[in-house]
Amino acid sequence: MIRVNENYLKLKSSYLFSEIAQRVAAYQKENPSAEITRLGIGDVTRELPKACIDAFHSAVDELGSIATFRGYGPEQGYDFLREKVAQVDFHSRNADIAADEIFISDGAKCDTGNFQELFANDIKIAVPDPVYPVYVDTNVMAGRTSDFDDGRYGGLVYLECNRENGFVPALPKEKVDLIYLCFPNNPTGATITREQLKLWVDYAKKEKALILYDAAYVAFIRDPEIPQSIYEIEGARDVAVEFRSFSKTAGFTGTRCAYTVVPKSLMVYDKSGNAYPLHGFWNRRHTTKFNGVSYPVQRAAEAIYIGDGPRQVKDLIDYYMTNAKLIREKMSQLGYECTGGINSPYIWINTKTDSWEFFDTLLRKAHVVTTPGSGFGKCGNGYIRISAFNNKEKVEKALDRIAAALK
Ligand code: PLP
Repeated sequence: MIRVNENYLKLKSSYLFSEIAQRVAAYQKENPSAEITRLGIGDVTRELPKACIDAFHSAVDELGSIATFRGYGPEQGYDFLREKVAQVDFHSRNADIAADEIFISDGAKCDTGNFQELFANDIKIAVPDPVYPVYVDTNVMAGRTSDFDDGRYGGLVYLECNRENGFVPALPKEKVDLIYLCFPNNPTGATITREQLKLWVDYAKKEKALILYDAAYVAFIRDPEIPQSIYEIEGARDVAVEFRSFSKTAGFTGTRCAYTVVPKSLMVYDKSGNAYPLHGFWNRRHTTKFNGVSYPVQRAAEAIYIGDGPRQVKDLIDYYMTNAKLIREKMSQLGYECTGGINSPYIWINTKTDSWEFFDTLLRKAHVVTTPGSGFGKCGNGYIRISAFNNKEKVEKALDRIAAALK
C-alpha cells in the first residue's frame, strides 16, 4: 500500500490565494459587469526590460548554431552571472561574497522552501508572524511541526511582528537554531535597520544558530541607510544564508531566475558538535536535485547589470514605487495607518476590523482585490496587504473607488 506523507495532512486546507480566488469568482459571477482590479497577489505586470529581451534573443540565437550551442550548464550557474552578482550586488556594498558562494536557481520560492532539507528534524525554528507562507509550510511538510491549532503550528517559535515593534520582531526569549527573516518584508513592507539586523547576527553567533535571510524585495530599498544585504553586517558571513530573486527586481516572475548565497565560512554541526561547512551540503543538494537555469535566462538576468540594464531596471522599480506612493498616500488620507510602500512594493494597512471583512468590503463596494493579512498569520489579522504591482491608471481608478467606498 502506498502511504502518504501524513505531514501533508497537517497543512491548512484553504490556501490563502485560492480562498481569495473563490471569493472573487463568486462575486464576479453574481456581478458579471463589475470591473475588478487586482491589487492582491504580488505578481509583476510590466514587460521585461529591453536589455533583458535583447540578451535573451541573442542567447537563443547562440543555441541555434552548432558553433555556439550549449547543453547542460554548471548546476550552480554560469560564471558570467555569478561574477556580476558578486561584484554588483555585494562588493559594491562592501559585502565580502565571492562568485563561488553564489548558487543561481530558478526561484527564491524553491530555494527558501528547499533549504530546510539540510537540517536535522528536531531543530527549533523561529518564523515571523505574519510570514511568507513558504517558510512555514515546507517545515510542516518535513515533519518539524505538530498540528495546526488556533492559527499556528505546534513546535514553531513565532516571532510576533506588530505595530508596537514596527513589524520588526524582537529576539526570541528561548534558544532557537534556525531563523527566517525577510526584509523588505512580504507582507508588511517593513524594513530593518543595520542596528536591528546586527542584534540578530549577534544572537545567531552566540547560539550557533543560522539566519535564512530573504531579500527578494531588495530592489525597492530607496533609503541609503537601510542595509541591502545581511552581509553588510559584521559577522553575518558566519551565520547567514541570503536569498535574492530577479522576479521583482526585473520582472522575472514568469522567466524564473534567482540566487542563494552560502558563504564558505558558515558552519553547521552534528550532534557531537563537530563543524562542517554548509556550502558543501547545499552544493551537494543543488547539484543532485537541480540541473541549472537555462542559458538564455541567465544571459537575460546578466543584462540587468550591464549597459542600459541598470537604468531600465531602475525605471521599472520607479514605476511600481509611484504606485506604492499613491496607495500609501490615499489610504493614509482616508485615515488608515500604513506600513511599507516607501522601501517596498507592499502597503500593509491597519483595517481597524477583521481582515476578511475589510477584504469583502473592498471587493463588493470598490471592486478591488486585496490580500487579507490574516492569511499570513495570526498577527496579520486586522490588516490587509495592497500591492503596487499594477498599471498606474488602474491603481488610480481603484484608489478613487476605494475612497468612495470607505467614505
Ligand atoms: N520570497 C518572498 C518573500 C516572496 O514574496 C516571493 C514571491 O512572492 C518569493 C520569495 C518568490 O520569489 P521567486 O519568484 O524568485 O520564486
